Amino acid sequence: MFNSKNRFLVIAAHPDDEVLAIGGILTRARDANVEVAVQFLGEGISARFDPGDFGNADYEMAMKTRMDGAKAALNLLGINKVHYENQYCCRFDSLDILDLVKLVECQIVDFNPTHIFTHNPIEVNVDHRITFRVVETATRPKPGLALREVYSFEIPCSGNWTFDDSFKPNLYVDVKEVWDQKIAAWNFYEGEARDFPFPRSVKGLETMAQYRGMQAGLELAEGLRLLRGVVTSD
Ligand SMILES: [Zn+2]
Repeated sequence: MFNSKNRFLVIAAHPDDEVLAIGGILTRARDANVEVAVQFLGEGISARFDPGDFGNADYEMAMKTRMDGAKAALNLLGINKVHYENQYCCRFDSLDILDLVKLVECQIVDFNPTHIFTHNPIEVNVDHRITFRVVETATRPKPGLALREVYSFEIPCSGNWTFDDSFKPNLYVDVKEVWDQKIAAWNFYEGEARDFPFPRSVKGLETMAQYRGMQAGLELAEGLRLLRGVVTSD
């Protein structure tokens, strides 16, 4: 996975999902000189505002804070290819899915990733669920693309609070050596953390990584689920 010939494309619903889910993996990618691009489909803040307040001063301030956090976090992770699609947060179900699919398809053609990382469908957050469906459609196998592996990841909170089913990783990545980098990146997202036992706390993130680690004989791990893998003859 961490081969400098690979290109990782992360397709996330909101700025901060990339760090919460795979901040350790992205740090390891940085250290291995893997080229990484990130596409955020939504802006991640408008769910906290009434629609009539979209665009007002408080909204713009919240947007700036989130964007500043994303820029600083991704800078730490060595990622400079970032695309913000800025759809309204937690309202992806009011969009035409095809429009989102086309945005992702453009990224896949432009960046030609070998690996794609995105959400899983077993999440409370509607944007996360729809992003999974969008990527499922946008990654339809096509000749000539470099894409070899598509993975889903998990988001604390949205992934922990489902009623029935839960995310089932089948690939575990050791992130012990880079854990401090993940937390440093997370800390750039000002105002997104809350106190433990909220899952999106530093202790919550560590507890999640310890739990995934225990499933794989590791101290701290991030879990992925391989959705499609292709082994070619070259
Ligand atoms: Zn999210």
